[in-house]
Amino acid sequence: MVSRSMTAKPLMGAPSDIVTLFSLAQRLALTERDRGCAKCHAPSQHCEAHHIRWWENGGRTDLANGVMLCAPTARVAATHPSPHPP
Ligand SMILES: [Zn+2]
Repeated sequence: MVSRSMTAKPLMGAPSDIVTLFSLAQRLALTERDRGCAKCHAPSQHCEAHHIRWWENGGRTDLANGVMLCAPTARVAATHPSPHPP
């Protein structure tokens, strides 16, 4: 299964000039920096790159706005957004 963060295609409905997906190089850098889930420390192989500030809300797709999160942590973050990064 390929997740959104593993592809290079823009998301449906996203303006064409907004990059919404982290590149392979960005994901590798985030993996090296975060060394697993930034919230619960799950191993990096269970994590994907996520935006701290969602791109729909003007968040950039760059290392400063990226974080590695496991699926359970990402689900909690999506349903209970916090003004503070994990
Ligand atoms: Zn986690």
